[in-house]
Amino acid sequence: MPIPPEAARPATPPVDESILLATLERYWGYRQFRPLQREAIGANLQGRDSVVVLPTGGGKSLCFQMPALVDPSGGVGLVVSPLVSLMKDQVDGLVASGVTAGALNASITPEERRRVYADLDAGRCRLLYVTPERLVGEGGEGFRARLRTWGVRFVAVDEAHCISQWGHEFRPEYRQLAQLREDFPGAGLHAFTATATRRVREDIVAQLALRDPEVLVGSFDRPNLVYRVRTRTGLRDQIRRVLGRHAGEAGIVYCLSRREVESLAEWLEQQGHRARPYHAGLADETRRRHQEEFLQERVDVMVATVAFGMGIDRSNIRFVIHAGSPRSLEHYQQESGRAGRDGLEAECILFYSGADFARWRQMLEQSGELTDTARRLLTGMSRYAAGTRCRHRTLVEYFDQPYGRDACGDACDWCLRELERVDDERVLCQKILSAVARLGQRWGVGHVIDVLRGRATDAVTRARHQALSTFGLLADVPVAELRGYLDQLTEQEVLLRTAGPYPVLHLTDRGVAALKGQADVELYRQPRPLPGQRKSRPAIDPGAWDGVDRELFEALRQCRLEVARARGVPPYVVFHDNTLRDLARRRPTTPEELLQVYGIGARKAEDLGPIVLDVIREHRGEPPDPV
Ligand code: ADP
Ligand code: ZN
Repeated sequence: MPIPPEAARPATPPVDESILLATLERYWGYRQFRPLQREAIGANLQGRDSVVVLPTGGGKSLCFQMPALVDPSGGVGLVVSPLVSLMKDQVDGLVASGVTAGALNASITPEERRRVYADLDAGRCRLLYVTPERLVGEGGEGFRARLRTWGVRFVAVDEAHCISQWGHEFRPEYRQLAQLREDFPGAGLHAFTATATRRVREDIVAQLALRDPEVLVGSFDRPNLVYRVRTRTGLRDQIRRVLGRHAGEAGIVYCLSRREVESLAEWLEQQGHRARPYHAGLADETRRRHQEEFLQERVDVMVATVAFGMGIDRSNIRFVIHAGSPRSLEHYQQESGRAGRDGLEAECILFYSGADFARWRQMLEQSGELTDTARRLLTGMSRYAAGTRCRHRTLVEYFDQPYGRDACGDACDWCLRELERVDDERVLCQKILSAVARLGQRWGVGHVIDVLRGRATDAVTRARHQALSTFGLLADVPVAELRGYLDQLTEQEVLLRTAGPYPVLHLTDRGVAALKGQADVELYRQPRPLPGQRKSRPAIDPGAWDGVDRELFEALRQCRLEVARARGVPPYVVFHDNTLRDLARRRPTTPEELLQVYGIGARKAEDLGPIVLDVIREHRGEPPDPV
């Protein structure tokens, strides 16, 4: 049923820019808006519907939290979110900043519920977080009637891609949220998601019956993430080296199978890391405990399947390792995107082998999911893996956005010149291509590699391929490296891998030219292992390491942990890492100086200032403040 536009809520008088900035400073301790936050807040305050697409870590929450604070017109801002853990963190964070907020979901205590209802009845509650089930599930109707008596200022639907069947986390029951439009015709409806595709966006608009929404789509680049890709040569050694660069920091290792999760987690624990496994085959209770330990910073490394991640709000994840290739760049973007939500540098490294893609094809085929779309997604992923250009640019362009410059310059293996160009690439390429040609373009990757390496397998002997002049031509090149070259040649459209259950290698026209030495091809060698230590990057944010007193940082981190334990909240609710770093750089000694620190607003300064100043004084060797 179309809603007449006059039912829309009258716009509130424009809120002065300076009030918004003052609120940002006072409640969050930030001095500037991130891209599109200001616009999203504007749309909300004008009562105009909106769809806001920002990458993970882009700062979506502030877009609906701020309007609830500055708009004096009363009523509650309703936030619909499927993620109970995330709700709790956000409410804790708001309360810590002095904002009255509450959550209603199946996991809260009766006492907490009473407090939330009392706040709502008294008109104090600015933001109310609810699950979709609470709103449109059993008893939802009565609850919505109650909401009408409290007055709903706006409705923000978080993780809105769940409403779309084109999204990768479709939840059919989300469809009933369309009901909200009818129940609260006067409230602006705002959808938030990190899923970039146009289809999902359009579906959201249609499903929620949005009225001429303001559509705000942010850049999908995550400049603070350093992307690397390596072919898998010895996974454990490779992982060990990454962990060496991130001692004591948080990270996720994504694996393709439960078995691999179990064995890697066990191995890491034996190596003295605080690691835990996480996959759908574990008992609910175990899974919950491991997740909780990770969020509470009692555990550093989560070894997991894709089952882990939805709603993981730990903002200081410093690395995400993929032990195998995901099935699409959408998945890769989502999973790697869990790193560095605090805007500080973080590393995303993919260890892959060409065999991963074959394995995906097989698994998807078995489950009947190997559609053309699935194949296309898989190809996109393998192109990224074998790609020989800036990773940031590749990712952004994959999501149909212009990158705006040639390359990131310093935040991917390509730009950091970690990939080594092969000196004799023309000759190497000709050797590989001639093997493919001599094999009559009728064999797959594995066989081509066997022939090049001179392995007399059954298939080789039966077909008498030892007799070929190309047999053993590259005997001393490791298998993984050869696979890497074949991937690169496919990516550059010199070779073509046919579709179907038994893909074979063909030469393209370009390949034929390259074989004759008439086309240029680039080949990159397996890079040398990176040094184990942290490679420092230029500052991107006030939180970078420049000028940070590391010892003080650790002391503050310890203090944060104690406060968090005492209050039963995750440490990042107390302070984000970049706030700790800024503290350890500025080393404030007075409450006024404290307010200059990134991420410390008036309320936090009042609440935690004395504790923090004590730690700093103690670190300087001064006695604590006499009270
Ligand atoms: P999203 O929901 O889009 O993934 P969040 O809302 O969790 O992102 O925000 C990510 C991080 O960015 C949080 O730590 C948040 O405090 C921080 N943040 C949000 N807005 C700003 C800003 N304007 N300046 C600095 N940090 C910000
Ligand atoms: Zn780059």
